[in-house]
Amino acid sequence: MSAKHQAFIPVTTKCPICECESQHRYIKSKMVSSLETEDDLHVVTYKWESPEFEHIRPNFYHIWHCPHCQFCEEKEVFRGDDKSGGKLELIQEKILILQRNPKSFLAIIGGMINLRDEPVEINNALLAHLQAIYIQQMLSPNNRQFAKLARFYLRTAWLYREWTALEDVVPGPPPQGFPSWEAFLEKLTVLWPDMPRDESAAIKLSIENYQRDLDKGSALDDIRHDVQVMFVLVSLYMRMEALDDALKYVRFIFQRCTQKRQETRHVLEKGVSLGKLNGRQIEQMRNLVNWLNNTIDRCTELSETVNHKIFEKEFPTARDLVMAMAEPTQELIGDTLREQGYHEVTVRKIVAMFNRQLAEKQGKSGPATNSDTPSTNSGNSGDQKKGGIWGRLTGGGK
Ligand SMILES: [Zn+2]
Repeated sequence: MSAKHQAFIPVTTKCPICECESQHRYIKSKMVSSLETEDDLHVVTYKWESPEFEHIRPNFYHIWHCPHCQFCEEKEVFRGDDKSGGKLELIQEKILILQRNPKSFLAIIGGMINLRDEPVEINNALLAHLQAIYIQQMLSPNNRQFAKLARFYLRTAWLYREWTALEDVVPGPPPQGFPSWEAFLEKLTVLWPDMPRDESAAIKLSIENYQRDLDKGSALDDIRHDVQVMFVLVSLYMRMEALDDALKYVRFIFQRCTQKRQETRHVLEKGVSLGKLNGRQIEQMRNLVNWLNNTIDRCTELSETVNHKIFEKEFPTARDLVMAMAEPTQELIGDTLREQGYHEVTVRKIVAMFNRQLAEKQGKSGPATNSDTPSTNSGNSGDQKKGGIWGRLTGGGK
């Protein structure tokens, strides 16, 4: 087979931990692109240049493994391109000691990982990811690379998702002595109690680490990076049904971008009027303002989506509560729903709906739009006999 028809580029590199040489490979970037991507950046389907490679899932090849000392990391670290590689000195000794202890997590998992065969099986990709995380967690908390951990946990969540959701992804047989992979993973938690054993556990840990990374503050003060991380967080929160947290982050992105846009415009106007900016700087700032405008629009849309999800989820029980009131008023509805822990989005919408119905009944307003009411008929507000869901509340329908 000619090199042109191969998906991988083979490389021999020295391990940054044990300094032994081993063979690795990475996928030629021109050979593959993503076809369908989810909100949390997970690629569901890939498009290959040649159909003969369609069985390959590039994310299975993301982590490299040294068969000599069981070290697992991204290729950039193996090749010395990762600037944060300096932290390795802090754990090098630890890894070398643990890999000689056959009862350690590092040695057990390392001895099982097989990334050499083609194609790589999902169980091997998963073990390599878990090993990479385990190694990163050896760093003391103040040296930990939260962005990297967040990314590894997220990639692990994708693997768990693919394991259950993708039909053409078939794991190899479970390790000897275990009836299933689940049983094996459960046993591993003896050595690593916090090890994520399913998608949602991995997502939770990814969220935790992304938050820590954001709290730490970006060293580059790079708003594009921060915003990208926060959008991933929003999608992860939505996956976990933590809609309130999702909404908080959308608002936070919105505020940060609005503020940054104002600052950038100010600097741009001032710089141009004083002739202190060159063409390149002006272009960069205009690009940034355009990007911020698009991001702000995206926030507005996303916030609508999350609001709608919150309301849809809470509406049925909130409506029942209001309908059980003998004499509902705006204040009583608001207080009761807030006391019961309903989201402000739901409280405001329901109070607004109540007021609209009341106003209609008293003839103070025009035809109702009722656009907030999910899946109920609207527009026939004059007919109190049908009266929609609020007919009973305002004394109609009897
Ligand atoms: Zn090594």
